[in-house]
Amino acid sequence: LDQISAVSPGIARAIVQELHDQRNNLKLIASENYSSLATQLATGNLLTDKYAEGFTQHRFYGGCDNVDTIESEAVRLACELFGAEHAYVQPHSGADANLVAFFAILSAKIQKPLLSELGQEDPAKLSAEDWAKVRHAVHNQRLLSLDYYSGGHLTHGYRHNISSHLFESYTYSVNRETGLIDLDQLRKQLHAVRPLILLAGYSAYPRKLNFAKMRELADEVGAVLMVDMAHFAGLVAGKVFTGDYNPIPHAHVVTTTTHKTLRGPRGGMVLCTKEFAEWVNKGCPSVLGGPLPHVMAAKAIAFREASQPEFQTYAQKIVDNAQALAEAFHIEGCTVLTGGTDNHLLLLDVARTFGLTGRQAETALRECGITLNRNSLPFDPNGPWYTSGLRVGTPAVTTLGMGPNEMTEIARIFKLVLSNITPTTAASGKPSRAKYTLDPRIVQQARQRVQALLTRFPLYPEINLDLVE
Ligand code: PLP
Repeated sequence: LDQISAVSPGIARAIVQELHDQRNNLKLIASENYSSLATQLATGNLLTDKYAEGFTQHRFYGGCDNVDTIESEAVRLACELFGAEHAYVQPHSGADANLVAFFAILSAKIQKPLLSELGQEDPAKLSAEDWAKVRHAVHNQRLLSLDYYSGGHLTHGYRHNISSHLFESYTYSVNRETGLIDLDQLRKQLHAVRPLILLAGYSAYPRKLNFAKMRELADEVGAVLMVDMAHFAGLVAGKVFTGDYNPIPHAHVVTTTTHKTLRGPRGGMVLCTKEFAEWVNKGCPSVLGGPLPHVMAAKAIAFREASQPEFQTYAQKIVDNAQALAEAFHIEGCTVLTGGTDNHLLLLDVARTFGLTGRQAETALRECGITLNRNSLPFDPNGPWYTSGLRVGTPAVTTLGMGPNEMTEIARIFKLVLSNITPTTAASGKPSRAKYTLDPRIVQQARQRVQALLTRFPLYPEINLDLVE
């Protein structure tokens, strides 16, 4: 830290302040975790200086022997951990991993057969006219994925994302009454749309998915089943999602982040069957530039950690805690969407229970030392900015060692805060969707109770860093 401080005291201070903030706020963000110090140290070192475009044993730069060792170890460990035929560990993020996967599927299924028809394997050697034919074919494919408002991710064909330019994109939604994905309805849509890719996976859906069934449905229309397990990769690695609920044996291509339930460094990965391996390995140059060797090293560390028996215990506890939390919210009278959860997250309807927007609830809870994010609920009348819901996740508090008793206390603190918020009335007489009042004594009480929890479950007790003046 002294070295960082000598160059930029402001940055050093922000790093230490972040540690301080994370120690003093309860993290319930479903997509975050606390990675091990081994993972963090593998991420921050001289490997950041090395270029290694290409892939193991096939680089466009000299001097890549150590990066080869690191990448092949990360690939080997990923295949072993997930039982996958092939792994590609270069994507810098989940968004990159999805782009690599999309391009690999388009290349294998559309571009390659068309190139063979045109008698030229290398697109760079095609005439302008033939290249236009290839582009036209590639750009006219359909993607069917979970609607953003039902818990899907931006990169799954949302209009504001490049995926909606790559594909003609269609969505399926959860059932309005049950809040669940209805596979009979999905089957009908699949037959109507006949997409190239059926995409399963979510950022805000509290239930497990039956991938065996989804593969059957995809096969009926000859679609590729792609699963984005960014949120629940740790539950797959930790063998909580097995059999029909483990995407690896059923999907053609699986993408993930490595930093959520999986508890590794920030990054992405693609797992696939042999059929797609050649194309996925072309992630650089198709989508990516040089890989990040330091992050691949950290991924290898995290995969090794996730292959230990303790990680299976951890993964099960994430779900046990989420279910305990859902039950505790239920007892406190809070509406939990779908009545509970099978995974690491749950969705609270704060509009229905407390007459609040997600924005008000998120801000007030942060005032009281609880960090989480508001989330739009299916068919949300408050839209994606103010929202009616909160997404609450248990991966980070489980890493700290909390259990069901702490979940009960967390639900009670929520109730204390949320039931005491009064939305401010605007000049028009309408209740504000952002502003509110909350008695400072309630804030103080809630903060004290959050602190009491955090003191019993300290974050990185081995790190001793002082705020830099
Ligand atoms: N896919 C899903 C399902 C996600 O939830 C996320 C991130 O929240 C991503 C992809 C994108 O990951 P990243 O932020 O690493 O690009």
